[in-house]
Amino acid sequence: MNAEIIAVGSELLLGQITNTNAQFLSQHLSELGINVYYHTVVGDNPQRLEEAVAIAQKRANVIIFSGGLGPTKDDLTKETIARVVGRKLVTDEMAMQSIEQFFASRNRVMTENNKKQALVLEGSHVFPNKNGMAPGMALETETHTYMLFPGPPHELEPMFQFEAKPYLAAKLCDDESIILSHVMHFFGIGEAELELRIQHILDAQTNPTVAPLASAGEVKLRITAKAKTIAEATQLNEDMTKQLQAIVGQYQYGVNDDTIVSKTVEMLQRHELTIAAAESLTAGLFQAELAEINGVSAVLAGGVVAYNEDVKVQQLGIDRALIEQHSVVSAEVAAAMAIGVRDKFQTNIGIGLTGAAGPNSHGDQPPGTVFIGIDVQGDVKTYKLNLSGMRNTNRIRTVKYACHYIMQ
Ligand code: ATP
Ligand code: MG
Repeated sequence: MNAEIIAVGSELLLGQITNTNAQFLSQHLSELGINVYYHTVVGDNPQRLEEAVAIAQKRANVIIFSGGLGPTKDDLTKETIARVVGRKLVTDEMAMQSIEQFFASRNRVMTENNKKQALVLEGSHVFPNKNGMAPGMALETETHTYMLFPGPPHELEPMFQFEAKPYLAAKLCDDESIILSHVMHFFGIGEAELELRIQHILDAQTNPTVAPLASAGEVKLRITAKAKTIAEATQLNEDMTKQLQAIVGQYQYGVNDDTIVSKTVEMLQRHELTIAAAESLTAGLFQAELAEINGVSAVLAGGVVAYNEDVKVQQLGIDRALIEQHSVVSAEVAAAMAIGVRDKFQTNIGIGLTGAAGPNSHGDQPPGTVFIGIDVQGDVKTYKLNLSGMRNTNRIRTVKYACHYIMQ
């Protein structure tokens, strides 16, 4: 099974919005093991859309559309597909009811063109829209599967995830194959190095397949098994996971939806440890990232954004002479920040983050030089990073490294 995604909308071509739907759909299709061969973007123009469909029909058997299901004149995806595949548009009663309810609940009058949103391709499988009005649909013809989704991401994403993805998974099962993916997350090892170490596995892979993915200083391995039963696919994935862990297991921090931040919070919760952070180059990012995790209040006490020298001295009690002697970007200052903030907030752990985020150097410290200080109940360690990204990437990576070292 291979797919093409056609995003419909002149706004996309004008650069007014980003095609996040294509990205989202691609991610989920690859999780199912469906290859996406092409992304197409076309404006709200029926003729050009028809041309795009004709091309897609030649090179994909699943054609997925996003956008153009709304009530306005420029929304013509359904009408165009209906013409291309020679199907009528018929009213879907369920969709009509939910549109009527939507208007009734808001005390608004339904207009004639809103009824257009309840039209679906005759014979299609309808995906209800729980966050809007236009339903999605899948139409099977002898040669192709056409899937249509509304453009707004808050409508498309849940609809795809909870309605269309299971639909596609069931279709794949009809081909007598269960496809099961499992993701391993690594930190502290580069993509090239990891690939080199597992090269023999990558070269020999058939089932399960192993795909490395690198992003923002992390590496993931997606393991995807195909089998007749879930038990068989699970077993294949587990065997492969063990093989990989034997080689690079010491760098693995989590699986599937885990993030390095969520694992850090989990570890702190498990050990009932509290933490406070003194942040210079990250200016609060460490705490903000932790705060995204539910239940963090049990572990995160607070912190100090100590961006300039005076704040470091006044709020964290750092000796100005220490800063002058070693530079503010130094292991000594990172350690003093960690100690100072732990003392101020009376926590088990104190973190100090100082560095040159870039693009400028700080004194003789080149951009990307970062020092992390960690004070765990009086046991103080420091770490030096030499990051090579842009300013904000360096700040995000600093947070991830801090988490990585906290978990050591
Ligand atoms: P509506 O009922 O809101 O008109 P629709 O299915 O007709 O929905 P469009 O009119 O094409 O969809 O787009 C509606 C909005 O959805 C756009 O203004 C944009 O905010 C968002 N959107 C559309 N296509 C995409 C896309 N490919 N990626 C991200 N967002 C998109
Ligand atoms: Mg629209």
